[in-house]
Amino acid sequence: MPAAAARPRRKTAAVPPKPAPKVGFVSLGCPKALVDSERILTQLRAEGYETVGNYDSADVVIVNTCGFIDSAVAESLDAIGDAMAENGKVIVTGCLGAKREVITERFPDLLSITGPQDFRGVMDAVHTAVPPRHDPFLDLLPPQGIKLTPRHYAYVKISEGCNHKCSFCIIPSMRGKLRSRPVDEVLVEAQKLARAGVQELLVISQDTSAYGADLKYARRSFRDREYETRMLDLCRGLANLDAPHRPWVRLHYVYPYPHVDGVIELMAEGLVLPYLDVPFQHASTAVLKRMKRPAAAENTLRRLEAWRSICPDIAVRSTFIVGFPGETEAEFQTLLDWLDEAQLDRVGAFTYSPVEGATANALPGAVPQEVMDERLERFMTRQAAISEAKLAKKIGKTLEVLVDEVGPEGVIGRSYADAPEIDGRVILEGGARLKAGQRVMATVTDADTHDLYATVVKG
Ligand code: SF4
Repeated sequence: MPAAAARPRRKTAAVPPKPAPKVGFVSLGCPKALVDSERILTQLRAEGYETVGNYDSADVVIVNTCGFIDSAVAESLDAIGDAMAENGKVIVTGCLGAKREVITERFPDLLSITGPQDFRGVMDAVHTAVPPRHDPFLDLLPPQGIKLTPRHYAYVKISEGCNHKCSFCIIPSMRGKLRSRPVDEVLVEAQKLARAGVQELLVISQDTSAYGADLKYARRSFRDREYETRMLDLCRGLANLDAPHRPWVRLHYVYPYPHVDGVIELMAEGLVLPYLDVPFQHASTAVLKRMKRPAAAENTLRRLEAWRSICPDIAVRSTFIVGFPGETEAEFQTLLDWLDEAQLDRVGAFTYSPVEGATANALPGAVPQEVMDERLERFMTRQAAISEAKLAKKIGKTLEVLVDEVGPEGVIGRSYADAPEIDGRVILEGGARLKAGQRVMATVTDADTHDLYATVVKG
């Protein structure tokens, strides 16, 4: 039998893989916009796009804009202008996208403009501009998605939109009515984050105390337990994640309604950080009514007293607007007196600034800028003294501190009373070997107006 002739081997030429399409990304605005950015970036990565930090090498640039106040609009338009000048292929999305004409007037040649949360619209525009490269290996994603925050903390958006009609705000017209995510969906996301090592979950929305009202507080199950889609059950679920460590849970944008008391009890039990971000905005009932604020009729001082009787260590943060149209000196004085009694831990304040499209613009009694500036100064001076006195009382106490950064400035962390970016810091001594994301016990040795100084006692 003749030997079988050797079959010629088929040669395969090594084809270099097609380079990944590159997307430049500019993210502006509040934590809610940041979460939208994270969702888009996660999807881009899932589809094999590479994100780049410069305009030159990007095939297309996405600008996620903010349109909340006039200075944010200006910043967004500048960012679009830079992207157009440096790259020329630009997709615009986010809050300012809801005001299309403001953008097209200056930039008629954009590839696409979409409003907030139009995640599909953004991806469609990207696909049209730069089709995705098929590469199954690039479909692999970290289970928690792509985060823009440091690895050790993450924002968790529980709902979108708002049912209120505050006269200085255009968010409901831009983002629509309240739409809550079912509680199990939020808990699954939180669990993935916790399993990926996230140490702090920051719950955000436009109105966390209204969470679930649109879903009629739908019941869902998570880890063999039933939860209602409402703030209290969400907090219970977040305290019951299946992860090697339990992350801190911090609540933002909560209104002072009576049902919030149940959550304060969870804080007293140590299940949720004893921290509440309550945007009071003012204390004069007349001003609050002109602002059309939710819970305007609540006796907020009594509410604070009730919360402190349940959880004495609770840290309350708030923001205020000074110089709202028609604010009289007497109304401002009511705010100062309230501030003295309320003894808030963390406070941010702004002078009133009109937002295009807000109904407050039609209110009479605009307060001159110099009067607003002078009131803001008085307000912040009053609060600085309160803050300094409150922080001084922490000297000698031992607190858990989450390390944010270890760098040339030393080791900087935060306690339960400090949300990232907006509150104070804890500057640590004796933590040279620490890493960002570690939680340590530290004894407070000194304090100033906003920050604490502490020595690590247990790493
Ligand atoms: S509660 Fe008021 S300020 Fe907050 S998003 Fe709703 S309308 Fe705007």
